[in-house]
Amino acid sequence: MRISEAYGAGKFGVSFELFPPKTPEGERALYGHVERLMAYRPSYITCTYGAGGSTQDKTLEIIARVRKEFGVSVATHLTCVGRTADQLRDYLARAESMGVENVVALRGDPPKGDDTFRAIEGGYRYANELVTMIRQDFPGLGVAVAGYPEVHQEATDPKVDLENLKRKVDSGGEVVITQLFYDNADYLRFRDLCQAAGLTAPIVPGLLPVTNLAQIKRITSLCGARLPEEMTAPLEAAGDDADAQFAAGVEYAARQAQELIDAGAPGVHFYVLNKSQATSRVLDSVSLPATTMG
Ligand code: FAD
Repeated sequence: MRISEAYGAGKFGVSFELFPPKTPEGERALYGHVERLMAYRPSYITCTYGAGGSTQDKTLEIIARVRKEFGVSVATHLTCVGRTADQLRDYLARAESMGVENVVALRGDPPKGDDTFRAIEGGYRYANELVTMIRQDFPGLGVAVAGYPEVHQEATDPKVDLENLKRKVDSGGEVVITQLFYDNADYLRFRDLCQAAGLTAPIVPGLLPVTNLAQIKRITSLCGARLPEEMTAPLEAAGDDADAQFAAGVEYAARQAQELIDAGAPGVHFYVLNKSQATSRVLDSVSLPATTMG
């Protein structure tokens, strides 16, 4: 299924994002978690693409196996980091030959310690260039792009960031999946701004249920998402009690998801971090629209 078919016309898309496990034990456990998540009839499952090189083949291996074993549509993430346009084409041709139907097309982050992204010779500078290439050379692949309710870290002006997002969509991005955020007001403002700018692609909120405060502080220090006190206070009150932190994180995420559903979000994309427990608990707690895709 093409990623855009998960949304619109009375549909509500639930999707999950995995990352390539670093160990064989992690990989074995992953498929058990995916099996449990399949109970929620996801529209598609995606797998991230590591910038360093080592996990890139793993991304394809995981996503192709998930598709085959669970009969669900999949998307590979792909970044422009350290790859020429020809190498990116080779990857996409391989992905297509393995049955992958969709791409989450990204620029990627600058290398650690560097705050500027530099394209390599023969490579791309911005995600919109990758989207243009996919649209021209791989018309059969569905394309999603990244959006930033709290504005991309490198963008100096929210208006310009929005124009850049529009450029990605105008180049062929069919769906926008957002960076994680914890204040729904940020998503709703962003969605309104996108609509006012004439952007008609579904803006799908990306949610990461927090079950460990230290971990989320690490993640958000990298991507710049704000952690509202309303969310951190119960987690801090839980102290070192892992079960209490889990319960507080799930409760916040369920409230966040329900509000987004009620506000008409086209779907929800969960950053599941290769585990099923928190996302399952969140999905058990919310009322999904009756039209959720399977
Ligand atoms: P772009 O859209 O290229 O934007 C980057 C910056 O450049 C922005 O500030 C933008 O305003 C500006 N800009 C964009 N186009 C232009 C232009 N034409 N001219 C001038 N300025 C421009 N990273 C990974 O390494 N692997 C993953 O698998 C991965 N998956 C992700 C999935 C999602 C849903 C999200 C939200 C992020 C993901 N990331 C991933 C992180 C992502 O790579 C970073 O956020 C990266 O810094 C920006 O990528 P982008 O595709 O949004 O870049």
